[in-house]
Amino acid sequence: MRSPLFLATAVLQTVLGTAAFAQAPAAQPHNVVLFIADGLRFRMVDDRTAPTMASIAREGVSLRNSHALFPTFTTANASGMATGHMLGDTGDFSNTIYAGFQVPGAGNTLTPFLESDVVLGDVDEHFSGNYLDETTILKLARDKGYSTASIGKIGPALIFDPTERSGEQTVLVDDATGTPKGIPLSADVTARLQAVSLPVAAPTRGANGNPGNLSKPGTLSPNASQQDYFAAVATRVVLPMFKERNKPFVLVFWSRDPDGTQHNQGDSLNTLVPGINGPTSLAAIRNADDDLARLRSALNELGLLDTTDIIATSDHGFSTISKESQTSSTVKTKFTDALPGHLPLGFVALDLAHALGMPLIDPDDGYKTIADGEHTKNGNGLIGGGREKPTVVVAANGGSDLIYIPDGDKAIAKRVVETLLAQDYVSGLFVDSKLGKFPGTLSLDDIALEGSAITPHPAIAVNFRSFDTVCGEPVRCTVEVADTVLQQGQGMHGSFSRADTWNFMALQGPDFKSQFVDPAPASNADLGRTVAQLMHLEIPDKGELIGRVLSEAMPGGATPEVASRVVTSDPGPNGLMTVLDMQTVGATRYFDAAGFPGRTVGLSTAVMPGATTQ
Ligand SMILES: [Zn+2]
Repeated sequence: MRSPLFLATAVLQTVLGTAAFAQAPAAQPHNVVLFIADGLRFRMVDDRTAPTMASIAREGVSLRNSHALFPTFTTANASGMATGHMLGDTGDFSNTIYAGFQVPGAGNTLTPFLESDVVLGDVDEHFSGNYLDETTILKLARDKGYSTASIGKIGPALIFDPTERSGEQTVLVDDATGTPKGIPLSADVTARLQAVSLPVAAPTRGANGNPGNLSKPGTLSPNASQQDYFAAVATRVVLPMFKERNKPFVLVFWSRDPDGTQHNQGDSLNTLVPGINGPTSLAAIRNADDDLARLRSALNELGLLDTTDIIATSDHGFSTISKESQTSSTVKTKFTDALPGHLPLGFVALDLAHALGMPLIDPDDGYKTIADGEHTKNGNGLIGGGREKPTVVVAANGGSDLIYIPDGDKAIAKRVVETLLAQDYVSGLFVDSKLGKFPGTLSLDDIALEGSAITPHPAIAVNFRSFDTVCGEPVRCTVEVADTVLQQGQGMHGSFSRADTWNFMALQGPDFKSQFVDPAPASNADLGRTVAQLMHLEIPDKGELIGRVLSEAMPGGATPEVASRVVTSDPGPNGLMTVLDMQTVGATRYFDAAGFPGRTVGLSTAVMPGATTQ
């Protein structure tokens, strides 16, 4: 029944609508293209390496004080961009998490790698249909009747609209498109692909996917052919279709380059120089830039450039890998796939199992027990307690790892913290405050990892040591210890160094200022809020760890007040202190770098006078 209240509301809306129209036409939002160059460091963009991005930063807004969210991994930062929330709310704490259940699409492991459409489906199903437990900008945009698409790297592409698995509403094209593991294409998109003679299945990475091994260098090619396909789908099918529909649209384009190439590059096997600054990595940066240039010229040819805001960003920075340690129990053991004296994959799990005197079980290899001289398949491990009730779980990720203690045992937490504080590869520990306060560590709450998330909560985030090769600019030649199958000299990210938190970020379009260098801090969570504002979307927030709209980048917007501070822990054994450099704008926090003084690039190495001690 239509109540009198309904009628009154309808009349009121009509009156308000008319009044608003009389003052100023209710503007239809402009379109948004969100372009992510995965793993692009801010300081690597110039007219020679990435001319399109350099021109967007110069002609539009350059966000020089930009921030990836820690842990500086892809799915985590995708969740921040997609929801406008920080990771304590989204629960996407890293690329590999402890899920708390055996994930069927990931071989029944407890520690799934989230860059998979099948795994994201399983995790969503387990956590009430949406593991993020926040609404994404693409879902809100399509609910308003706008056109939406997400194209590119598998995992982050789907995270922008993870619950839309039909292909009928948001267009999703990623590595798995055209395979049984992918999200289907609608009949309309399929017909349009065929009409322009494009395949309905995405090509593989080919040679770019080759990581090499201990004695064989990895790839020497950027991810050109796969991304050519994604760019062709975007420019020849999706944008023309959006133009025909004549409605506002949001297009996300996630370029795997330079990330995938910087990880796998074969320019620097077992040496730290050139590391990720060799010719293959530079070609990958250029490949991403070329894709953005293609998107921009397609917008121009379709007459959409003047009505489209372009946000060019990256999810995180990058570093070269070191596998050196003097303290790890593993460096005295011989592994067939590690140099003598170097850290093997899974060294954190091995060190903790060794220190706790408990068996190490491999969740990714049939839950077998690991023997001497072996490591787990993906570096993850269950320590003690067995498959059903592990005492400690290590989720190996790269430049930082996550440790879970499912039953919340405080005595175990203390032993784990003590073990890690004694390792030369550690630089900063962040512990769940429910487990207690440990000298030398800060809490997960200090870095916005405690919020409303519904996925299992990590007990400890372990940041690894970083240093630089003295190239004159530390963030361009940072090296980090990484828990990875890749070799010394290849590439990784995930740490709390400024090299990994300083991502490229720039804006250009009708809703942004021109030739503006923004001094205020910005994060990937802010981009989610900013897109929501541009598209007139209201995010129904559950958690409170939210980013801010970058209004200073918009015409008439004032630069906000920024405060900086240094948070330091109580000193632990040997005087080790976890130090956190941060900035705030109102209640929004930005984390520049964290770790032990002298072991993290970009950290204020001595505690500054007047620092906040807690
Ligand atoms: Zn990566």
